[in-house]
Amino acid sequence: MTIPYAEQLPVRHPALAAADPELAALVGAEERLQAETLRLIPSENYVSPAVLEASGTVLQNKYSEGYPGRRYYEGQQNIDLVEALAVERAKAVFGVEHANVQPYSGSPANLAVHLAFAEPGDTVMGMALPMGGHLTHGWGVSVTGRWFRGVQYGVRRDTGLVDLDQVRELALRERPKVIFCGGTALPRTIDFAAFGEIAREAGAVLVADIAHIAGLVAGGAHPSPVPHVDVVSTTTHKTLRGPRGAMLMSRGEHAKALDKAVFPGLQGGPHNQTTAAIAVALREAGGPSFRDYAHAVVANARALAEELVVRGFDLVSGGTDNHLILIDLTANDVPGKIAAKALDRAGIVVNHNTVPYDTRKPFDPSGIRIGTPSLTSRGLGTAHMAQVADWIDRAVKAAGAGDEDTLRAVRAEVAELMAAFPAPGLPV
Ligand SMILES: *Cc1c(COP(=O)(O)O)cnc(C)c1O
Repeated sequence: MTIPYAEQLPVRHPALAAADPELAALVGAEERLQAETLRLIPSENYVSPAVLEASGTVLQNKYSEGYPGRRYYEGQQNIDLVEALAVERAKAVFGVEHANVQPYSGSPANLAVHLAFAEPGDTVMGMALPMGGHLTHGWGVSVTGRWFRGVQYGVRRDTGLVDLDQVRELALRERPKVIFCGGTALPRTIDFAAFGEIAREAGAVLVADIAHIAGLVAGGAHPSPVPHVDVVSTTTHKTLRGPRGAMLMSRGEHAKALDKAVFPGLQGGPHNQTTAAIAVALREAGGPSFRDYAHAVVANARALAEELVVRGFDLVSGGTDNHLILIDLTANDVPGKIAAKALDRAGIVVNHNTVPYDTRKPFDPSGIRIGTPSLTSRGLGTAHMAQVADWIDRAVKAAGAGDEDTLRAVRAEVAELMAAFPAPGLPV
């Protein structure tokens, strides 16, 4: 196997390079790829060197089933303090009474919520996946839609906004045990207060899944769900800029049910190295510069959306309030997957995505989904967004025309700009 940039590895990861040159070379190639490309996937980011170090520590070696002070293994003198630190910081950053930092990722966190508040066969309600919801909000192919009865709401065709009339009507008719708000392709502010009213009327537990926007909430760039919902579920690796992991947060009254559902209900030993890295990320998220980061992410997304609209792109809901933009390419006559692959060849990494009321199939949809968390972590600002929009425009047109020369030219321009904005934790 030939792997590019293999020669750089011994310096950055000497032990790995000596023990497993093949794997080390792959890591090096990925570092190079993340450094040279413009990463626009809205659920991705660059963690800080400190988060990266914490997640590679010997905390990895320890089994800690249970919770601080109540473990099933001895030798927890340090681990208990690590987890307690992460929990305290989560409570402070999000203003919650209870935090569980053990869920392995966002999907198991949401399954734990089901386990805590519903029985198999009970009704749960969430946004439909093709409308921008998440699989784990009761969608059919997910265990949450197979073992529970998922009922699903969507967005209005005319506005692209969540249809709160439909949410109320469905909730009162179907009486779900749990209602999820939030999703993976929602470019607009979530009206947690309106969902709160509906959930109270319907007698449902309301869960805000803020996986995508947790960093914006932490930094004050999106309203907090905390006053309006029963449970907050979030990943830690998207806008929050932590390691791959998740948290469940709530008022004290739900603490026991959530903790029991995570362990022993669903998981075994927590990933202590991840807990440590979550603690570091939360310390960063609680600092003043993270507020600037969160607001810059939104400012960049708004600027990019405006520049795309100027170039004739059709954005779902017409624009964005957060970090995310959903582009409907129907009018460009380029399918989402073809556009995404062409952009990838041009050094711009996005994902293809369904748009609401998509007429194409989910594995070959009409849209692409982009976002600004990663480019903002590298220091790009609103002044760069016209350039980014221009590259997207050229690459999508080139995709339609089969023009590989333009894609290659854009790739070189992208690499040149990104070299001037080194990514945290990556080689220059
Ligand atoms: C990303 C995401 C998840 C799932 O997180 P994983 O860590 O990929 O399992 C759940 N809910 C929402 C809204 C998400 O965006």
